[in-house]
Amino acid sequence: MIIGKISENDKKIEFEADIHCINCGKQVPRGLKTGEKFSKTDKFKVELEEFMKNYLCGICRDKKRTKN
Ligand SMILES: [Zn+2]
Repeated sequence: MIIGKISENDKKIEFEADIHCINCGKQVPRGLKTGEKFSKTDKFKVELEEFMKNYLCGICRDKKRTKN
């Protein structure tokens, strides 16, 4: 998974974060990717927070899709 936008001249880095599905609480694989420069910005922190607040695992995402 990639967080934020990685610009062309930015190096891709991997990082780990504890992410749980907001619906069932299942922990999901932690390897995430982002841009090296981007990871040092405040925007990155906001994006990561938003991502974690809204994250659904594959199963819950499928359920949501069929409901809609
Ligand atoms: Zn789930």
